[in-house]
Amino acid sequence: MKLAGQVALVTGGSRGIGAAICRELSARGAAVAINYARDAAAAEAVLATIRAAGGRGMTVRADVAEEAQVQHMVDAVATELGDVEILVNNAGIHEDGLMMTMDRASLDRVLAVNVGGTFNCTKAVARGMMMARKGRIVNLSSIVGDRGGKGKANYVASKAAINGLTRASALELASRGITVNAVAPGMIVTELTEDLRNRHGDKYMEKIPLGRFGQPEDVAGLVAFLASDLAAYVTGQVFTVDGGLGLAPNI
Ligand code: NDP
Repeated sequence: MKLAGQVALVTGGSRGIGAAICRELSARGAAVAINYARDAAAAEAVLATIRAAGGRGMTVRADVAEEAQVQHMVDAVATELGDVEILVNNAGIHEDGLMMTMDRASLDRVLAVNVGGTFNCTKAVARGMMMARKGRIVNLSSIVGDRGGKGKANYVASKAAINGLTRASALELASRGITVNAVAPGMIVTELTEDLRNRHGDKYMEKIPLGRFGQPEDVAGLVAFLASDLAAYVTGQVFTVDGGLGLAPNI
């Protein structure tokens, strides 16, 4: 799983799962561009950790929902670190609520970041990867993308779309040796799930066969594998990382 000399771009790398992915890819030798939308200080803190461990990287601001900002980001990474060879589409948001009371605008916002961001970033790096005839793209989905989930129709729809986008882009890029896969986490301890864990933590814990919530590092290891040469013959797949939660009925 050595990634020495490779350039990785991780969207939403400033905290949670994205930050763990940045640290993991760096530990395996990649130079890592840490994208964020708002919290520059958090992204700088991740970069400081990487540098303290002897790694190389940069921070780069861009709202992944905005195509022009994404193109600027990819150009900035190419100038400072080199062409992106590993893209991790991790940036994601949720705005939970029952569908009957959900604003149409809430659906649009979640789709714009989660699906639009994945689309924009994939498109922005794909040309360079195709010319290099090499590349790894890993998308962050969720177990709800296949299973559904109450009170999050916008988020569920976005993750189902990411699974579809993963398969479609895998097919389109395969002839150039580029792989595209998705990782679908269950309940991971990050800011995104804080409210859910506070309100329904016990209910979820009962349904996790491995008996604990996941840590961001549990997801980062699989992402690093999919980004490595060991996964060269794996494409268009969605891999669950949930401690067995998805095996239980009625989550
Ligand atoms: P967090 O909320 O902890 O972190 C989200 C990250 O995304 C932050 O770095 C944030 O940066 C960034 N971000 C948000 N909006 C944008 C945007 N428009 N453009 C660029 N960056 C943006 O999330 P998690 O670490 O929990 O989740 C990471 C991914 O994993 C998401 O796609 C999520 O859907 C998925 N996932 C998480 C699960 C979990 O249990 N935690 C379960 C299943 C899937 P900033 O603060 O600067 O905006």
